[in-house]
Amino acid sequence: MKYASVPFNQNQTGWSLNDEDYQQQPQLVGDIHADWAVIGSGFAGVGFARRLASLNPDLKIVLIDSQTAADSSSARNSGFIIGLPHNIGSSTAELKKAQDYRTLLQEGIRQLEESVAAHRIDCEWENAGKYHCQIDPSSAAILKEYIDNLDTMQEPYQLLDSEALYQKLGTRLYSKGIYTPGCILVNPAKLIAGLARHLPDNITVYHHTPALAIDYASGSARITTLQGTLHARNLMLATNALSRELSPVTGRQASMATYASITEPLTAEQRGRLPEMTSWGLTPVNAIAGATLRYTQDHRFLVRQHVDPALKGWVGAGQTWNAAQQHLAIFRKAYPQLADVPLARTWSGTISVTRNGAPVWGQLAPQVWTAGGCNGAGVSKQTIAGSLLADYALKQDNPLIAAMQSLGQANYMPPSPFLDIGIAGALWKERYLGRKEI
Ligand SMILES: Cc1cc2nc3c(=O)[nH]c(=O)nc-3n(C[C@H](O)[C@H](O)[C@H](O)COP(=O)(O)OP(=O)(O)OC[C@H]3O[C@@H](n4cnc5c(N)ncnc54)[C@H](O)[C@@H]3O)c2cc1C
Repeated sequence: MKYASVPFNQNQTGWSLNDEDYQQQPQLVGDIHADWAVIGSGFAGVGFARRLASLNPDLKIVLIDSQTAADSSSARNSGFIIGLPHNIGSSTAELKKAQDYRTLLQEGIRQLEESVAAHRIDCEWENAGKYHCQIDPSSAAILKEYIDNLDTMQEPYQLLDSEALYQKLGTRLYSKGIYTPGCILVNPAKLIAGLARHLPDNITVYHHTPALAIDYASGSARITTLQGTLHARNLMLATNALSRELSPVTGRQASMATYASITEPLTAEQRGRLPEMTSWGLTPVNAIAGATLRYTQDHRFLVRQHVDPALKGWVGAGQTWNAAQQHLAIFRKAYPQLADVPLARTWSGTISVTRNGAPVWGQLAPQVWTAGGCNGAGVSKQTIAGSLLADYALKQDNPLIAAMQSLGQANYMPPSPFLDIGIAGALWKERYLGRKEI
């Protein structure tokens, strides 16, 4: 039997939680039977379980996580809930795919907003839009391609020069950028923890219950955990690219680590060194080399940057330290006027990357389902991917299933060591191409 490499980040997220989010559910102990087991309580697992439970309230659903929702990458991200795809391509088929993708992302946002309102989840939800910026003029072609894509999709945007960006963002780092409305900014830890706390009654949640191995031999899934066994007629693997040993089929996605840091809240005097600013979010033209930045409602700066391979989902303190040094250098370069503002915390999380950018979505084996392959953006995407998978598994008629399938399926990935070499090469190339964007 193959045992899963249970994910672990040797650091803690800097996002604050609501008091109730610290309450933990018990670990699974003994023999438990369920109609459905869901492994992973990130946006995909929670979105799937919620929809499945509401479609059939008689189902007994068990959701387990090796830690808690508040420790997942869904809680560790930068909190951009995006509604627009980035790349379109030039053909009509690619435009149709991008339109389908936009429809899916916007439905993901709608579902999240509905749950946030229904359960009054305090997660600093704001419709702030976002900036998408280049540092070096040599990146103009990448920004232009994005602008062309927005034009093709008839999406509104505002073009901003360096001075206009300074007035909005308080930094002179960027030579050009665009602002698009419709992106939601949140505290992601409060969002996913709040969603996981407010699940329908026919879902039982177990925390600190890693799935160590799964036996598919008997036609149902027998999931071995630390203190017990979960038997389920059906299984949803909501682990993104983590614990790939649990999958009954060969992997089509790889887990990568990326990192974020957050400062202490700025004092009134420190804020006086910046133009008058409300909270905002910025993504870089090169997502691998460049830095995502945020200025939060409580006057802190967030920097997200650097990507490392993390096939086993483990991230060590040394890697976190290395990212912290890079984040500090970026923050100092962007805000020389805030040289006395330290980073309060640096943390990591994992994303899933597929070779062709398509998701890993649908049925893997007779009773096994998955919604993975987030490819770096997963708040809206994994929410709708999880929720739609429940419709698909229960054979509900939902036109969005066709939109989801139009995104295609991730390509086969070679095993290690070829995979490791391929990833190292791809990262090296992106870092080289984006070297002027940090
Ligand atoms: C620093 C950072 C910044 C990011 N910024 C953004 C952003 O601004 N906007 C955006 O849309 N996306 C962002 N992302 C990506 C986003 O966080 C992911 O796409 C999203 O979390 C994927 O959700 P998921 O539910 O598929 O997987 P995850 O959130 O990774 O959840 C998987 C869950 O499975 C559990 N699990 C794994 N193995 C086992 C096992 N063996 N047994 C039991 N449980 C297991 C894990 O503990 C985890 O809770 C960012 C990611 C990072 C790391």
